[in-house]
Amino acid sequence: MAGDKRDYYEILGVERGASADEIKRAYRKLARRYHPDFNKSDPRAEEKFKEINEAYEVLSDPQRRERYDHFGHDESVGAGGFGGFGGFGDLGSIFEDIFGGFGDFGRRRPPGPEQGKHLRYDLEITLEEAFNGGAKKIRVPRTESCPECGGSRARPGTKPEKCPACGGSGQQQVTRNTPFGRMVNVQTCLHCAGRGTVVKEPCPACRGEGWIVRERTIEVKIPPGIDHGTRLRVPGGGEAGVRGGPPGDLFVVVSLRRHKLFRREKDDLLYELPLQMALAALGAEVEVPTLEGKAVLKLPQGTQPGAVFRLRGKGMPRLYGRGKGDLRVKVDVVVPKRLSAREKELLTELARLGASEEKGKGFISRMKDAFGG
Ligand SMILES: [Zn+2]
Ligand SMILES: [Zn+2]
Repeated sequence: MAGDKRDYYEILGVERGASADEIKRAYRKLARRYHPDFNKSDPRAEEKFKEINEAYEVLSDPQRRERYDHFGHDESVGAGGFGGFGGFGDLGSIFEDIFGGFGDFGRRRPPGPEQGKHLRYDLEITLEEAFNGGAKKIRVPRTESCPECGGSRARPGTKPEKCPACGGSGQQQVTRNTPFGRMVNVQTCLHCAGRGTVVKEPCPACRGEGWIVRERTIEVKIPPGIDHGTRLRVPGGGEAGVRGGPPGDLFVVVSLRRHKLFRREKDDLLYELPLQMALAALGAEVEVPTLEGKAVLKLPQGTQPGAVFRLRGKGMPRLYGRGKGDLRVKVDVVVPKRLSAREKELLTELARLGASEEKGKGFISRMKDAFGG
């Protein structure tokens, strides 16, 4: 899941648009610096090393990098390390390249069924769609077990064979002579990338990967009243499982598009009503838009700018609940910028009237006004 994971580009210290070469260079530099064997006194180095590897594993694979750019961390390999599909064989050879096969890189769980990765999909919907709910079709690219070989990676009619280098254990012991004596390390089998099996004739449909990327149309049910940021789970909508494991889930993260009339605040809708100066003073019955047609709002005489009126039950449906929120109408008194001759005449008279009324106030009330009494 996304959570508080750091951005892969940030981990490797490269730009989003970095070339494959730049990524590889940055990775090598960091992997050398943080390799646990060279940082035995620093317990954080191992964590850091894992993080660097995870970032590289995704960003070095063009397909996975593209999905990461779209979906973020939900696509990525969990903190467990080098599980999952693809990429691993390549990593093995790069380790070999940097460290000459020295060290215990894999720490891989024994091969077994693994659930596919979860995916995240960001879905923007309109306020009307959130109000009404319903079904929405989305297209999600995801990996699926190869239909030709059933995920075995071997050409149909053939089978993967036990790896001759490790005898099927997925691990190898490497003995080397160093100035300090003989050192034995257990490392992930480079021949089979820890799988324990090798494929002599790779499946042509998936080029021996065992999985393919396919765009699937998935129907997502939108419950009425859904709010910005809600996560909808589609079980089994994620990546294909590995070695016969179940597929991951798809998480659809809903965001609401801005509406031209309404703002939303939890279950309430907010609407700003432009109101003529004269109507504010006189009071009026006005029509107010709602998401279900028009409603009538009665404004009292002397309605003040900024006054808020509530239309009960004209807001958003309560998610998985009963009833609806309110529509809150805030009055925005509009002062005309241009006046016709007649308007000018009337307003001038009104102004004169107001001024003489002020003057006509008695001494006591003027004192009260001045001292706030
Ligand atoms: Zn295949
Ligand atoms: Zn092997």
